[in-house]
Order: sequence, then structure tokens, then C-alpha cells
Amino acid sequence: MWKRMRRRAREGRRKRGRKRREKDGGQDSGEAGEKEEAADSALNVTRLKSLNSLPDNTAAGKVAKPPARVIATAPGAKQASKAQPYECIFPATDPFDPQLKSALKVYPPLDCSKHTANIVYLENFVAKVNHSKLSLVLSDGYNFSHCRCKEIKRKNGSDKDVKYTWTSETFTDSLALEPWQENIMTECFDTKKRAISRSYFPLIRVKNETERFLKKNYKKYATHNSPLETLSILVLGIDGMSKQHFERSMPKTRNFLLEKMGAIEMYKYNKLAFETFTNVLALLTGHTPEEFYKDWHYNQTEFVDQINEAFIWTDARKIGYRTGMMLDTYNLTAFHYQKKGFKESPVDYYQRQTVIASERDKLMRGNDSNCAGDISEVTQIHDYWLQMARTFGKDRTTPFFAYSFAVRITHDDCNLAYEGDDVYYKFLQDLVATDSLDNMVIVWFSDHGPRFGPIRETYNGRIETSTPYIFFVFPPWFERKYPKLISTLKINQNRLSSHFDTYETLRDLLYFKAGEKPSGKLSERGISLFREIPKERTCQQAGIPSEFCACGRLSRLNLTNQLQSLLGMALLDRINSFIGHRNSSTLSSFVLSKNSKHTINEGNSFLPVNFSDSNVHRHSTDILSDSTSRLPSEQLRKKCSPLTLLAVERVYHVTNDQLQSLKTKTYRVTIKTTPGFGLFEGLVNYEPGDSGYVMGDIVRINLYRGQAECVQDPWVRQFCFCVK
Ligand SMILES: [Zn+2]
Repeated sequence: MWKRMRRRAREGRRKRGRKRREKDGGQDSGEAGEKEEAADSALNVTRLKSLNSLPDNTAAGKVAKPPARVIATAPGAKQASKAQPYECIFPATDPFDPQLKSALKVYPPLDCSKHTANIVYLENFVAKVNHSKLSLVLSDGYNFSHCRCKEIKRKNGSDKDVKYTWTSETFTDSLALEPWQENIMTECFDTKKRAISRSYFPLIRVKNETERFLKKNYKKYATHNSPLETLSILVLGIDGMSKQHFERSMPKTRNFLLEKMGAIEMYKYNKLAFETFTNVLALLTGHTPEEFYKDWHYNQTEFVDQINEAFIWTDARKIGYRTGMMLDTYNLTAFHYQKKGFKESPVDYYQRQTVIASERDKLMRGNDSNCAGDISEVTQIHDYWLQMARTFGKDRTTPFFAYSFAVRITHDDCNLAYEGDDVYYKFLQDLVATDSLDNMVIVWFSDHGPRFGPIRETYNGRIETSTPYIFFVFPPWFERKYPKLISTLKINQNRLSSHFDTYETLRDLLYFKAGEKPSGKLSERGISLFREIPKERTCQQAGIPSEFCACGRLSRLNLTNQLQSLLGMALLDRINSFIGHRNSSTLSSFVLSKNSKHTINEGNSFLPVNFSDSNVHRHSTDILSDSTSRLPSEQLRKKCSPLTLLAVERVYHVTNDQLQSLKTKTYRVTIKTTPGFGLFEGLVNYEPGDSGYVMGDIVRINLYRGQAECVQDPWVRQFCFCVK
């Protein structure tokens, strides 16, 4: 089934690529980045009402439900001129730009010491009571009684619930764990039988049956393919961090990566989608969600197991790699947010039970979800990989492929990344100390930049949202032995790349062959970073939707109020059509100058922008959510209030060398709507005096929690303000 899918996807890609190239020459072209004018006062914005009194809806720093990705086909864009060689250039952004000052909040290092202390620690698989910490958890007049140990298992058929399957005898000093124990909870009590502390230990154990299977796989693969190298691979992601924010908020970690570990950073790494899932799916499978759609509808009723064959860890397992995955929340991960997760463990070491159990433990978590007792939750992930490195990392015949993605610390507010610098820095130091880096490649990445909040609303944030970071760390000897591979990678540092390319690189690492590698072709959506990426690669060719493409220059032009209104209304009209209010009478309140060439039909549809249904989005709502929750337009119309344009907040002209000679201009437009004070951003292509259309996706860039709970569909939610 999977081979068939892959072939189909390849064919689809070729077709789509061709179509896109024919249709959409532009958007991702540009020249050296230009800084926008600083102050809002420089803006010639159209304001229908004063915004001064509006509440700031964006600073709450709360978790918003991520809307699904919209894929749009843009019509009418002309074939790029062949006269000028094109090169994608990201706008220059200074991570320490003073304009960001009000959007940034520097948090002190994460301090979990005020949380309930962890009394038990592990040493060589022996659980030991730390008597010196007992006074931290005992109330006056009560004494320590005993501890006990429990094994945690996932509940059958569930990736979100656990059960306790075994309880040890009580102990007051130490307890040797059984060799079969993998997920341990220790619980200690006082003399009043009250629980005073719990600790959770995910353990890497050598499993005989697994080892037999993997060693057989490895031998078979090595015999037939004689791989030149067998490298363990550790892929570590942090949610929602731009490369600029990583530089700002985690300087110790970043410097250690670059200076002590020799990491190589890709400078033009562009996200592929708004939300986590699509980005990490590309990195782990080389595919978009839509490409799985024919065989698999992922939603809240189907497990991800159905496509586990497509994940690179399955490939790794087949050639003898120990595979591991660790995700740090029970319901917010890419595979569990509005999805069911995995029914069967997708990898050999699927750390899940302790995360679920620990997350629900009120005694140990208190109100701070980033701490699990007196250690940070992220440290649990790190400890797991340190165990993996120590257990398997030193022997080249026992490779591992490990993937983890941390939502914790950065998910609620990316400024909290400042808290995590010390935690990550210490992890890297500990990793180096395992002496396993000689056989290991580390991929250090984020999925996308900030999606909401004060940073996102700045000029820098507009760019940062599309520029996640990625670093590659190779063993110290690797460059000496394979100088050509590294020199190519270094050329590619300045070439447009994405998660699709990382996937191909991971494959190259798994099936390692060092010979001369052909340069990448423009027709290839994913190109291994060990092959030279063409300089002239465009976002379309790289599979990056135009609305997320960071190439090109953004500048502000002195546009007329009428034109800005027109662009804003184009977005509004599209949004209203998503929620069943196309042609709604709300547009009648919008009045253009009588001198305008463009017309508004009062109480009727908005005519100046020439919409045609052929360019209407092809969004993937029904893929990304329970298909039964998708409501027909008429029902949405009843549930969601029509939106009215409150202001055109910002308009950037996207400079595009390829389209310079053409009349069509591309604008990146941000509008504020009411009710709900939603901020929306989208691209509008406009041909003066003629026609225009919204190109690609429209995204909500401020939070909407509490506004859209009447609809389930994550994609519709961003546009819906529920009628009370
Ligand atoms: Zn994310």
C-alpha cells in the first residue's frame, strides 16, 4: 500500500509542480531585505474606527487551537522571466531589533525548586530514597513512612490513558528494579499515609527480543548494502521557535551548538505550514497530509498507525536501528492534538506512559506545567536520550534513531524560551559527556516561528513566523572523511530549504553512501542537503505555499486609502465566504470615496475585486478534523457571526523581481475585524484598475480562545465568532 502511495504522491507532486510553475511564477522572488519604516505613524492605513480603545486580544499568551492548513491554487500568475537569474533572499532581520523590545519579555531561568521535591532518584536501575530531601516534603509533626514503585502501561487501545499494572513491596531506603520495568512511578508516604512525593522514570532497557530482531535486520542490511557508515540519529525539535528567537532567547545553547559541537545552521530554512503537524510530517515522511488523504483520513476516530510505515523511523527499524520517540504532553503533540495518536507503539522506545501519568499528577505539577516536581519536564526527555546514548550510542552495530519534540516551555508563550536556555545548554553538555557523539548525527530544529502574540504582530515577526531554525551536528571526524558532503551542505546553508529537504537528508544518512551526489533539480520538492540545491529554487518548487514563503522584500508603499480598503475588503470577503457569509450585507457599511473607480454595491456583494471561484481555496478541513464535525455553509452561517472590517492594519508590498515587468502587484495585507477583534493576514494579488484575488491561505494571527467553541473544525475556528 505504501509503495503505491509513494508513487502516487510522486506523480501528484510532479503534476502539481508543473501546474504551479505554469500558474504561479512569483511571490517568492525578491532582492535584499529592506527594513520597513518603523513607526505606525508612517502608515497610510484606512481606519474605519479609532483603534485606540480596543482591547489587546493578542497578549494573553494562551494556547490557541491551531487551525488547519489551507492550500490554495493561485491563478493567473505569469511565467517567470528567464532573463534574470532568480535567487530567494530572506529579508534581513535583526534578532535584537529595538522595535521588538515591547514584544519581548525576558524570563529568568526556569526554577522548579519550589515545587514538591522528588524524593526518589535512580542509580543503575536501583531506586533510592534521598533522605536529605525528606524535610522538604514532610509537614510538621509527620514522619516519613515508606515508598513503593509501580509500573505504568498504556491502556489497551488508547494513546492518552494509562494503567498501573504492578506494585512493588514497600521500601524505605532502596529498591532494585526488575529488568523488564520500563516506565516507573515511585510514590512515597508519610506516617499519616499521605502521598508526599512521586517521581516518574522512563527507562531505556535492553530488550532481548527487540535486540534479536534488530540485529538480524542490521546484519541483513549490512551484508547486502555494505553501508559506509552507520550513524545514530537524534532529532530534537522545539515547538514554535524562529531562528531569530532561538538566537535571542537561548544564547548559551546556540553558542554551545555552534562553537563546541560544530553545528551547521541552514540560513534559509522556510516553514511549510501554519501548524506543527504538517511541518513535522514533512520532516518525518517527506509528505503533506493531503498526500495521505486517499488512504488515510486522520482525525479523532482513526489512529496514526495506519501510516506508520511512511515514517522514517520505520525505515530505520527495518535496517536495524533502535527507534525511539518522546513527546512531552499528553494531548498537544502533533499526533495527539485533535487526533488519536498511536494504538500500537510506533517505535521500539515509545515514551508515553510516564508523560501522561506525570502530566496528570497535581501533587508534583502544581500550577506550573513546565515542572515535574523539582525538575523541568523537558529534562525528562533529555534524560531519556542520555540513557539511549549511553546504552546504544557507543557501539556502531547498535545504532538508534530517536525523535522528540518539546511543546513544553515554548508552547504557551515563545518568550518562555528564555527560561529554557540553561536546561537545554546543560543537556548538550551532558550529551557530549556520554562520549557517544562519535557515532551520532544531531538534527536540532523547530517546526515554525511564532504564530500569535506580540512578536508575530511586528514587522520582524511577520518574517520570523516563516523561519524556524535547523542545525546539523556531525561526528568530529565526519568532515575530514567526507569533505565534499560537508562543503555541499555549507553551500546549501544559503539556499532555500525546508523540512522536505531534511527528510531526504535523513534518508541519505540512514542509507549512507558517500559517492558523488548529483546536484538537486528544480523539479524535486525535497532535496537532500548533501546534494547542491539550485540557487534559483523558488518556494513553489520547494513545496512552500506562497503565504508562508519568506523570500522577497517587504516594503510599505504610499497606497491610497481606497486601494488599502480594497485589499482589506478582498480578505474580508474571502473570510466571510469561509463561514457562510459570502455576499453578506455587512459590506454595506464600508464606504469608499465617491471618486473611486471601484464600486461598492450597497447591501450587496463586493464587486471591485474580481473574485472567481476557480481560484478559491482548496482547504483541507475535512482531512484535519473529524469529518462529521464539518458543517455545511448554511449551518456555519447560523453559528458564526458575519465579520466586518474594522481596520486595514498593515499592507506590505512584496517585491518580486520575476514580476517586475508585469502589472500585477502582490500585497501582504493584515486586517482587523469585528466582532472579536480578529487579526488576519493574507496575500492579495492586484492588477490596478482591473482585478485581484486572494492568493493562498489566510491566517489568523491573534488568539481566538473563547470565541469559536461553537464549531469543532479547527480550520473554521480561526474565522468564527460564535453567535451567542
Ligand atoms: Zn508548532
